[in-house]
Amino acid sequence: MTELLIGSHLSTAGGWDKLIARSHAEHGTTFAFFPRSPYGRRSKALDPDKAAAFGARLAAEHYGPLVVHAPYVYNLAGKDPAKRAFAIDALAEDMRLLAPIREAGQETYLNIHPGSHVGQGAETGCRLIAEALDRVSEQADGTGITILLETMAGKGTECGRSFEELSSIIDRLDDPTRIGVTFDTCHVFDAGYDLVDDYDGVIRRLDDVIGLDKVKAIHANDSIYGLASHKDRHANIGDGKLGLPFFTRLVNDPRMNTLPMILETKEITPDTHREEIALLRGLREN
Ligand SMILES: [Zn+2]
Repeated sequence: MTELLIGSHLSTAGGWDKLIARSHAEHGTTFAFFPRSPYGRRSKALDPDKAAAFGARLAAEHYGPLVVHAPYVYNLAGKDPAKRAFAIDALAEDMRLLAPIREAGQETYLNIHPGSHVGQGAETGCRLIAEALDRVSEQADGTGITILLETMAGKGTECGRSFEELSSIIDRLDDPTRIGVTFDTCHVFDAGYDLVDDYDGVIRRLDDVIGLDKVKAIHANDSIYGLASHKDRHANIGDGKLGLPFFTRLVNDPRMNTLPMILETKEITPDTHREEIALLRGLREN
């Protein structure tokens, strides 16, 4: 039985070595982190000159792909061209920061929220996102970092609330092979896909519309609210409306269980993520 690649979203305080120490403490085999502050300032803790050594250490320890999370402040679908330009430049800069990690042998993805159309309409939003991603690809050419578009809950005017919206972004790209997708279990359920009563139907739909080969990572979160609530509130694993029967199916599904799984659940105690990682590993059946 292959081991789950699993970990949580970790703090970068203290720098690269602390990230690895935090991952070891939770017994992780992958993890996520923000490459800069949530408001877009460059992180002082993540010294670019030490990124290669960080990547080499993780590769030597056989880590699964990292799923770095871009700051929430980027909006590639926003109205203000200056803010879109900032997001494009910042994403490309993040990819350059991460490039040495991958060059050292550690696969690394950069997950982003596609964007919010802020009243311009989903069609316009998806077009703006695709145009922006083409510019990011040009600016970050040669970094080898794959951007992953996250499946969104459909809160407010978020783009990417359906598999069709994500595929409409990908289809517009100059080079669709450079973009993948992160499957967020809470968001997908929240967006209206019934992972509890029609798990196989949802995964089939994901395959038909986006293609499972495009899905590179999972955000493993339970959901406080029910199907199609569009609220985006993560619950701890087993404490929400998805529940343990869903997570049991997920971790035993060979179409999904080789992907890196990132917990974005609330740390109730310093042991929460270590316990949730052990819980999910314990749901494996053979
Ligand atoms: Zn996210």
